Amino acid sequence: MSEALIAGGGIAGMAAALALAREGWRVTVCEEAPAPAGLGAGLQMSPNATRVLRWLGVLDAVAAVAFRPRAAVMRDGRTGARIYRAALGEAAERRWGAPYLHVHRADLLAALSAAAGAAGADIRGGARVEGYLLRPEGPTLKLAGGETLSGDLVIGADGIRSALRARLNGPEAPDFTGMVAWRGTVPAARLPDGLVAPDATVWAGPGRHLVSYYLRGGSLVNFVAVEERGAWTAEGWSAPGDPDALRRGFAGWHAAVTGLLDHVEETFLWGLFGRPEQVRWVDGPVVLIGDAAHPMLPFMAQGAAMALEDVAVLVAEVQAGGDLPEALLAHEERRWPRVARVQRISLANGRFFHRRSGLARLGRRGLVSAVSRLAPGLAAGRLDWLYGHDATEGLG
Ligand SMILES: Cc1cc2nc3c(=O)[nH]c(=O)nc-3n(C[C@H](O)[C@H](O)[C@H](O)COP(=O)(O)OP(=O)(O)OC[C@H]3O[C@@H](n4cnc5c(N)ncnc54)[C@H](O)[C@@H]3O)c2cc1C
Repeated sequence: MSEALIAGGGIAGMAAALALAREGWRVTVCEEAPAPAGLGAGLQMSPNATRVLRWLGVLDAVAAVAFRPRAAVMRDGRTGARIYRAALGEAAERRWGAPYLHVHRADLLAALSAAAGAAGADIRGGARVEGYLLRPEGPTLKLAGGETLSGDLVIGADGIRSALRARLNGPEAPDFTGMVAWRGTVPAARLPDGLVAPDATVWAGPGRHLVSYYLRGGSLVNFVAVEERGAWTAEGWSAPGDPDALRRGFAGWHAAVTGLLDHVEETFLWGLFGRPEQVRWVDGPVVLIGDAAHPMLPFMAQGAAMALEDVAVLVAEVQAGGDLPEALLAHEERRWPRVARVQRISLANGRFFHRRSGLARLGRRGLVSAVSRLAPGLAAGRLDWLYGHDATEGLG
């Protein structure tokens, strides 16, 4: 039986553990957090991602604790004027063949790790990976404390500050993008009825924007607020932010924004960093996936989706048989252009959301084509290549 060693038990790592354990691999996941981390807040799972969840056999479990948004809407942050709307809900499922869901990261991780454990994966908490070695007996993970584990395949799924990426590509100096993101949730029961629409709404304005949507069947409202700033902030899922500073940043905005932020008691804050696109993902029998391979800005809501797609393509290439390093290189070659395109559009969307003028004017004049030219990720017809993509094609 072949053995896979996975660094990181986040979305990419747990999905890979589940997929490989189902294929009959012996799998060990080394996660530095003591237990699978329930950190983070909402994730938008577009149909290209939920299609992978369906293949992994966890879509029903995830959908049961998710929320199905009615539409993706962009509004002027101060006036509330609608700039753009695309139907989601049933329309998304008809068009792209899988549902569009809003999921709490903790719920997604719980579903993936429960299924991976049930499929036989050994999930080790409190196991910090420091790097890997290429030894004659096979690739070897080095854990903090000196323990080593050898297997046939090493997967680096250790996220945005990946120790394995640093080992593979050398140390890097990430560039601060000049943007920070607050993230958090507010129980819907605390908010006036109807304050938050059942949509994925981007509230856009000069120098900042806020995204709001429901989670967990509508019982929780998720927000991500992005602000341009000069200063550096630590990255991570769990750096605390100051709710009052967040409220001050959006003072004078539309009542749906300020009314939501009035009820924020706890928020996480982190800086958004750019990294060089040109990193290697493969070193012999070692491969990087998810944020470890291709960190991206969140303005297409595709980081976790790309991590899930990675897993399907990786398994397809490995299943094809033959030499493992060749299969990993084939995976990299298939994934690279698509991921690079999403990275580029995410960057362009961030700039568009923060334009200093003209957003509401564009919307009032119904210039959806201009919106889609300036923010290529937003127009429904232009998303077919992204949401309609089936990374599981050909897989059993
Ligand atoms: C503001 C914001 C909003 C976002 N919104 C969306 C969205 O709506 N939809 C979407 O698809 N994506 C979204 N993303 C992106 C998404 O969160 C990430 O792309 C996704 O979590 C990547 O999954 P991953 O498994 O690669 O990394 P992670 O989920 O970060 O998991 C990495 C894991 O590795 C562990 N780890 C790290 N270092 C080590 C080590 N040395 N040893 C052992 N374990 C280690 C960590 O504890 C963690 O559990 C957003 C990101 C941001 C910043």
